[in-house]
Amino acid sequence: MSVLDRFDLSGRTAIVTGGNRGIGREIADALAEAGANVVVANRSEDSGETAAEELADDWDVETLAVPVDVADEAEVEAMVDATVDRFGGVDVLVNNAGIVVHEAAEEMTVDEWDAVMQVNVRGVFLCSKYAGIEMMESGGTILNVSSMSARIANYPQRQVAYNASKGAVESFSRQLASEWAEHDIRVNCLAPGYIRTDNTDQADDVDPNIDEVWRSEMLMDEIPGPEAVAPAALYLASDASSYVTGASLVVDGGYTVR
Ligand code: NDP
Repeated sequence: MSVLDRFDLSGRTAIVTGGNRGIGREIADALAEAGANVVVANRSEDSGETAAEELADDWDVETLAVPVDVADEAEVEAMVDATVDRFGGVDVLVNNAGIVVHEAAEEMTVDEWDAVMQVNVRGVFLCSKYAGIEMMESGGTILNVSSMSARIANYPQRQVAYNASKGAVESFSRQLASEWAEHDIRVNCLAPGYIRTDNTDQADDVDPNIDEVWRSEMLMDEIPGPEAVAPAALYLASDASSYVTGASLVVDGGYTVR
Protein backbone atom coordinates (compact mmCIF):
# COMPACT_ATOMS: atom_id res chain seq x y z
CA MET A 1 0.00 0.00 0.00
CA SER A 2 1.40 3.42 -0.92
CA VAL A 3 1.69 6.09 1.72
CA LEU A 4 -1.07 8.16 0.12
CA ASP A 5 -3.38 5.11 0.07
CA ARG A 6 -3.27 5.17 3.86
CA PHE A 7 -5.18 8.44 3.83
CA ASP A 8 -7.93 6.93 1.68
CA LEU A 9 -11.36 6.78 3.34
CA SER A 10 -13.32 5.34 0.41
CA GLY A 11 -16.36 3.43 1.58
CA ARG A 12 -16.11 4.69 5.15
CA THR A 13 -18.66 6.79 6.98
CA ALA A 14 -17.69 9.87 8.97
CA ILE A 15 -19.83 12.00 11.29
CA VAL A 16 -18.57 15.56 11.66
CA THR A 17 -20.29 17.59 14.37
CA GLY A 18 -20.39 21.25 13.41
CA GLY A 19 -19.58 20.18 9.85
CA ASN A 20 -21.59 23.03 8.37
CA ARG A 21 -19.08 25.85 8.94
CA GLY A 22 -15.69 26.87 10.26
CA ILE A 23 -13.14 24.21 11.10
CA GLY A 24 -15.74 21.42 10.91
CA ARG A 25 -16.69 22.35 7.36
CA GLU A 26 -13.08 22.18 6.22
CA ILE A 27 -12.57 18.84 7.99
CA ALA A 28 -15.75 17.51 6.33
CA ASP A 29 -14.30 18.62 2.98
CA ALA A 30 -11.01 16.83 3.64
CA LEU A 31 -12.71 13.58 4.66
CA ALA A 32 -15.03 13.72 1.64
CA GLU A 33 -12.11 14.41 -0.69
CA ALA A 34 -10.49 11.28 0.76
CA GLY A 35 -13.64 9.35 -0.20
CA ALA A 36 -15.68 9.18 3.01
CA ASN A 37 -19.43 9.46 3.10
CA VAL A 38 -20.04 12.37 5.45
CA VAL A 39 -22.79 13.11 7.95
CA VAL A 40 -22.99 16.83 8.72
CA ALA A 41 -24.33 17.15 12.26
CA ASN A 42 -25.06 20.61 13.66
CA ARG A 43 -27.88 22.71 15.07
CA SER A 44 -28.91 24.83 12.09
CA GLU A 45 -30.85 22.66 9.64
CA ASP A 46 -30.51 24.89 6.57
CA SER A 47 -26.75 25.33 6.70
CA GLY A 48 -26.27 21.63 7.44
CA GLU A 49 -28.32 20.70 4.36
CA THR A 50 -26.39 23.16 2.21
CA ALA A 51 -23.02 21.86 3.39
CA ALA A 52 -24.08 18.25 2.81
CA GLU A 53 -25.23 19.06 -0.72
CA GLU A 54 -22.02 20.91 -1.54
CA LEU A 55 -19.86 18.06 -0.21
CA ALA A 56 -21.76 15.51 -2.31
CA ASP A 57 -21.46 17.67 -5.43
CA ASP A 58 -17.79 18.53 -4.94
CA TRP A 59 -16.44 15.09 -4.03
CA ASP A 60 -18.94 12.60 -5.49
CA VAL A 61 -19.65 10.98 -2.13
CA GLU A 62 -22.87 10.27 -0.26
CA THR A 63 -23.81 12.75 2.44
CA LEU A 64 -26.49 13.25 5.04
CA ALA A 65 -27.43 16.29 7.12
CA VAL A 66 -28.74 15.59 10.62
CA PRO A 67 -29.81 18.53 12.78
CA VAL A 68 -28.62 17.84 16.32
CA ASP A 69 -27.82 19.51 19.59
CA VAL A 70 -24.79 17.50 20.70
CA ALA A 71 -25.70 18.13 24.34
CA ASP A 72 -29.07 16.38 23.96
CA GLU A 73 -28.78 12.64 24.55
CA ALA A 74 -31.90 11.63 22.61
CA GLU A 75 -30.88 13.76 19.62
CA VAL A 76 -27.36 12.32 19.60
CA GLU A 77 -28.70 8.77 19.73
CA ALA A 78 -31.07 9.60 16.86
CA MET A 79 -28.16 11.09 14.88
CA VAL A 80 -26.18 7.88 15.17
CA ASP A 81 -29.27 5.79 14.35
CA ALA A 82 -29.88 7.91 11.22
CA THR A 83 -26.25 7.38 10.18
CA VAL A 84 -26.44 3.62 10.65
CA ASP A 85 -29.79 3.44 8.81
CA ARG A 86 -28.32 5.29 5.84
CA PHE A 87 -24.76 3.96 5.69
CA GLY A 88 -24.73 0.76 7.76
CA GLY A 89 -22.30 1.94 10.45
CA VAL A 90 -19.92 4.63 11.68
CA ASP A 91 -16.18 4.48 10.99
CA VAL A 92 -15.06 8.00 11.91
CA LEU A 93 -16.43 10.48 14.44
CA VAL A 94 -15.10 14.04 14.52
CA ASN A 95 -16.25 15.82 17.66
CA ASN A 96 -15.73 19.35 16.39
CA ALA A 97 -18.81 21.29 17.61
CA GLY A 98 -17.78 23.77 20.26
CA ILE A 99 -18.54 27.18 21.70
CA VAL A 100 -16.65 29.83 23.64
CA VAL A 101 -17.80 32.48 26.11
CA HIS A 102 -15.50 35.45 26.63
CA GLU A 103 -16.12 36.53 30.19
CA ALA A 104 -13.98 37.12 33.26
CA ALA A 105 -14.32 34.39 35.89
CA GLU A 106 -15.64 36.86 38.47
CA GLU A 107 -18.39 37.95 36.04
CA MET A 108 -19.23 34.58 34.53
CA THR A 109 -22.67 33.23 35.35
CA VAL A 110 -23.35 29.60 36.11
CA ASP A 111 -25.50 29.49 32.97
CA GLU A 112 -22.55 30.65 30.85
CA TRP A 113 -20.25 28.10 32.47
CA ASP A 114 -22.81 25.32 31.98
CA ALA A 115 -23.46 26.25 28.35
CA VAL A 116 -19.79 25.80 27.48
CA MET A 117 -19.51 22.53 29.38
CA GLN A 118 -22.73 21.19 27.85
CA VAL A 119 -21.50 21.52 24.28
CA ASN A 120 -17.74 21.10 24.66
CA VAL A 121 -17.64 18.27 27.22
CA ARG A 122 -21.05 16.62 27.55
CA GLY A 123 -21.45 16.75 23.75
CA VAL A 124 -18.10 15.03 23.19
CA PHE A 125 -19.04 12.33 25.68
CA LEU A 126 -22.50 11.70 24.22
CA CYS A 127 -21.37 11.55 20.58
CA SER A 128 -18.44 9.31 21.50
CA LYS A 129 -20.69 7.02 23.51
CA TYR A 130 -23.31 6.42 20.82
CA ALA A 131 -20.94 6.37 17.84
CA GLY A 132 -18.53 4.21 19.86
CA ILE A 133 -21.20 1.58 20.54
CA GLU A 134 -21.56 1.22 16.75
CA MET A 135 -17.77 1.18 16.21
CA MET A 136 -17.29 -1.68 18.65
CA GLU A 137 -18.35 -4.12 15.89
CA SER A 138 -15.47 -3.36 13.52
CA GLY A 139 -13.33 -0.57 14.97
CA GLY A 140 -13.08 3.10 14.13
CA THR A 141 -11.45 6.42 14.87
CA ILE A 142 -12.64 9.26 17.08
CA LEU A 143 -11.08 12.67 16.64
CA ASN A 144 -11.84 15.27 19.28
CA VAL A 145 -11.12 18.87 18.37
CA SER A 146 -9.68 20.25 21.58
CA SER A 147 -7.50 23.37 21.49
CA MET A 148 -4.12 24.70 22.44
CA SER A 149 -6.21 26.30 25.21
CA ALA A 150 -6.13 22.92 26.96
CA ARG A 151 -2.45 23.62 27.75
CA ILE A 152 -2.00 27.39 28.01
CA ALA A 153 -3.58 30.55 29.35
CA ASN A 154 -5.07 32.65 26.54
CA TYR A 155 -4.58 36.41 26.49
CA PRO A 156 -6.09 39.04 26.43
CA GLN A 157 -9.54 37.44 26.29
CA ARG A 158 -11.00 35.90 29.46
CA GLN A 159 -12.38 32.39 28.95
CA VAL A 160 -11.90 30.07 31.94
CA ALA A 161 -14.85 27.82 31.07
CA TYR A 162 -13.54 27.23 27.56
CA ASN A 163 -10.04 26.34 28.73
CA ALA A 164 -11.41 24.03 31.41
CA SER A 165 -13.63 22.35 28.83
CA LYS A 166 -10.76 21.73 26.43
CA GLY A 167 -8.59 20.35 29.21
CA ALA A 168 -11.43 17.96 29.95
CA VAL A 169 -11.62 16.92 26.29
CA GLU A 170 -7.92 16.05 26.29
CA SER A 171 -8.03 13.94 29.45
CA PHE A 172 -11.31 12.31 28.39
CA SER A 173 -9.68 11.35 25.09
CA ARG A 174 -6.62 9.75 26.71
CA GLN A 175 -8.80 7.69 29.04
CA LEU A 176 -11.19 6.66 26.27
CA ALA A 177 -8.27 5.64 24.05
CA SER A 178 -7.14 3.32 26.81
CA GLU A 179 -10.59 1.85 27.47
CA TRP A 180 -11.53 1.30 23.81
CA ALA A 181 -8.22 0.07 22.41
CA GLU A 182 -9.54 -3.46 22.92
CA HIS A 183 -12.36 -2.61 20.46
CA ASP A 184 -9.92 -1.36 17.83
CA ILE A 185 -11.14 2.21 18.32
CA ARG A 186 -8.46 4.90 18.26
CA VAL A 187 -9.13 8.19 20.04
CA ASN A 188 -7.02 11.30 19.44
CA CYS A 189 -7.20 15.07 19.79
CA LEU A 190 -6.47 17.80 17.31
CA ALA A 191 -5.46 20.94 19.21
CA PRO A 192 -5.60 24.00 16.95
CA GLY A 193 -4.17 27.38 17.75
CA TYR A 194 -5.90 30.53 16.53
CA ILE A 195 -7.86 29.94 13.32
CA ARG A 196 -10.00 32.61 11.66
CA THR A 197 -13.67 31.55 12.06
CA ASP A 198 -16.88 32.93 13.58
CA ASN A 199 -15.49 31.65 16.90
CA THR A 200 -12.39 33.85 16.85
CA ASP A 201 -14.31 36.75 15.30
CA GLN A 202 -16.14 37.02 18.65
CA ALA A 203 -12.82 37.99 20.26
CA ASP A 204 -12.66 41.18 18.17
CA ASP A 205 -15.23 42.58 20.64
CA VAL A 206 -12.72 42.06 23.46
CA ASP A 207 -9.94 44.02 21.74
CA PRO A 208 -10.01 45.33 18.16
CA ASN A 209 -6.24 44.76 17.96
CA ILE A 210 -6.45 41.23 19.25
CA ASP A 211 -4.93 39.76 16.08
CA GLU A 212 -1.74 41.70 16.70
CA VAL A 213 -1.54 40.51 20.31
CA TRP A 214 -2.01 36.91 19.19
CA ARG A 215 0.40 37.16 16.29
CA SER A 216 3.11 38.54 18.56
CA GLU A 217 3.09 35.16 20.36
CA MET A 218 3.16 33.04 17.19
CA LEU A 219 6.10 31.88 15.11
CA MET A 220 4.06 32.23 11.89
CA ASP A 221 3.08 35.66 10.60
CA GLU A 222 -0.61 35.21 9.79
CA ILE A 223 -3.61 33.64 11.48
CA PRO A 224 -4.88 31.19 8.88
CA GLY A 225 -8.32 29.86 8.02
CA PRO A 226 -9.55 26.33 8.80
CA GLU A 227 -7.69 24.87 5.80
CA ALA A 228 -4.57 24.99 8.01
CA VAL A 229 -5.85 22.20 10.27
CA ALA A 230 -7.93 19.99 7.94
CA PRO A 231 -4.99 17.87 6.65
CA ALA A 232 -4.03 17.01 10.24
CA ALA A 233 -7.62 15.91 10.86
CA LEU A 234 -7.51 13.62 7.83
CA TYR A 235 -4.26 12.12 9.13
CA LEU A 236 -5.78 11.35 12.54
CA ALA A 237 -9.05 10.04 11.07
CA SER A 238 -7.43 7.67 8.59
CA ASP A 239 -5.18 4.61 8.63
CA ALA A 240 -2.23 6.96 8.08
CA SER A 241 -2.22 7.33 11.88
CA SER A 242 -2.80 3.63 12.65
CA TYR A 243 -0.08 3.63 15.36
CA VAL A 244 -1.40 6.79 17.03
CA THR A 245 -3.94 6.74 19.85
CA GLY A 246 -4.40 8.75 23.03
CA ALA A 247 -2.37 11.53 21.41
CA SER A 248 -2.97 15.23 20.82
CA LEU A 249 -1.62 16.96 17.75
CA VAL A 250 -1.02 20.69 18.21
CA VAL A 251 -1.43 22.78 15.04
CA ASP A 252 -0.88 26.32 16.24
CA GLY A 253 1.68 28.18 14.13
CA GLY A 254 4.13 27.78 16.99
CA TYR A 255 2.01 29.72 19.50
CA THR A 256 2.63 27.31 22.39
CA VAL A 257 6.38 27.14 21.78
CA ARG A 258 6.92 30.49 23.49
P1 NDP B 1 -17.44 28.13 14.79
O1 NDP B 1 -17.99 29.06 15.83
O2 NDP B 1 -17.06 28.67 13.46
O3 NDP B 1 -18.48 26.93 14.56
C1 NDP B 1 -19.02 26.26 15.65
C2 NDP B 1 -19.66 24.99 15.14
O4 NDP B 1 -20.17 24.23 16.25
C3 NDP B 1 -20.84 25.27 14.22
O5 NDP B 1 -20.81 24.32 13.19
C4 NDP B 1 -22.05 25.05 15.13
O6 NDP B 1 -23.20 24.64 14.44
C5 NDP B 1 -21.54 23.91 16.00
N1 NDP B 1 -22.25 23.81 17.27
C6 NDP B 1 -22.20 24.69 18.30
N2 NDP B 1 -22.99 24.26 19.30
C7 NDP B 1 -23.55 23.10 18.88
C8 NDP B 1 -24.46 22.17 19.47
N3 NDP B 1 -24.97 22.36 20.70
N4 NDP B 1 -24.81 21.08 18.76
C9 NDP B 1 -24.32 20.88 17.51
N5 NDP B 1 -23.47 21.72 16.90
C10 NDP B 1 -23.09 22.82 17.58
O7 NDP B 1 -16.22 27.40 15.51
P2 NDP B 1 -14.80 26.92 14.95
O8 NDP B 1 -14.96 26.31 13.62
O9 NDP B 1 -13.84 27.99 15.17
O10 NDP B 1 -14.47 25.81 16.05
C11 NDP B 1 -14.67 24.42 15.82
C12 NDP B 1 -14.00 23.69 16.94
O11 NDP B 1 -12.62 24.02 16.96
C13 NDP B 1 -14.54 24.04 18.33
O12 NDP B 1 -14.56 22.89 19.14
C14 NDP B 1 -13.52 25.04 18.84
O13 NDP B 1 -13.48 25.09 20.24
C15 NDP B 1 -12.25 24.46 18.25
N6 NDP B 1 -11.14 25.40 18.15
C16 NDP B 1 -11.26 26.55 17.42
C17 NDP B 1 -10.19 27.42 17.32
C18 NDP B 1 -10.25 28.68 16.53
O14 NDP B 1 -9.31 29.49 16.65
N7 NDP B 1 -11.26 28.91 15.70
C19 NDP B 1 -8.94 27.15 18.04
C20 NDP B 1 -8.93 25.92 18.77
C21 NDP B 1 -9.99 25.08 18.82
P3 NDP B 1 -24.38 25.72 14.07
O15 NDP B 1 -23.86 26.55 12.92
O16 NDP B 1 -25.54 24.86 13.68
O17 NDP B 1 -24.62 26.54 15.29
